[in-house]
Amino acid sequence: MTKKLEDLAVPVYFMTPGKRLPKRGPYYVIAHDGVYFRKDTDLINALVKVDGVDFLRRVKTFATFDLPKISLEMILQTVVFFRLVYSLQKTEVTLMLFYNPETKHLVIDCPQQIVGWPYVKWYDSQMIYQDDHDYLCVGTIHSHGSLFPEHSDIDMLDTKNSDGLHIVIGDLDKPFVTFDCNVVVNGNYFHRDPTEVIDGLRPTEWKPRFVKKVGGKLIRVVSRTNRIYYALDAKPDLIKSVEMPGDWFSRVRKDKKRLRQLPTLPQVAGQVENSDLKGD
Ligand SMILES: [Zn+2]
Repeated sequence: MTKKLEDLAVPVYFMTPGKRLPKRGPYYVIAHDGVYFRKDTDLINALVKVDGVDFLRRVKTFATFDLPKISLEMILQTVVFFRLVYSLQKTEVTLMLFYNPETKHLVIDCPQQIVGWPYVKWYDSQMIYQDDHDYLCVGTIHSHGSLFPEHSDIDMLDTKNSDGLHIVIGDLDKPFVTFDCNVVVNGNYFHRDPTEVIDGLRPTEWKPRFVKKVGGKLIRVVSRTNRIYYALDAKPDLIKSVEMPGDWFSRVRKDKKRLRQLPTLPQVAGQVENSDLKGD
């Protein structure tokens, strides 16, 4: 005869203010920072942190984000901007996504930011949608220059309190680019295929080639990377018509050196305001 869950279970208490816990276990406690277990044997009396509750089932986590796809025009504008910034000053740069749930209108905008290699710190002042309460900030897109677009530890810190769609674009020095797309909820990352969230992307078979010395001879080798490179499926007319808002560049300030601690907005606002893309 199989046991019922109630027979297997031990009590579970919530550590609410003023809660007095029993003097002997076994029991679990759900507290501010996780789950604890009270254990008492002939030799041991303990209350310790544990990873979960033994007799309960696992939960399969998920996250969906009901946004329209980023249009081909928007991603084209983004990639052109990222490539320009990278080719001019070899730094990262960030754009932000704003969404109006009423009209279903998704837009991108450039925040004020200090950029370097390989990092970027952005501030959301003076953005055209910041004061428009119909628009919510729903994510970011930032560049990783010539590198792979995997979210770094710093990226995760930057986005952990920012629920939304966060995208990194890499390999910007190559004919095709790579993406890392994630929906982030409470610091949890849920990977998305780039074609699920961006319109007009076409995966290619293209791989980078490099020169290698074999037996004293230089030969061209195709990289064995498993990165998927994407083409932007845009007609020449669309590519020619891409326009870059002029003030995007004025909000990007190149940092001269890696800062140990990034300054706060009031410290940099004056510097950012009159800066140009090349910095000084
Ligand atoms: Zn990054």
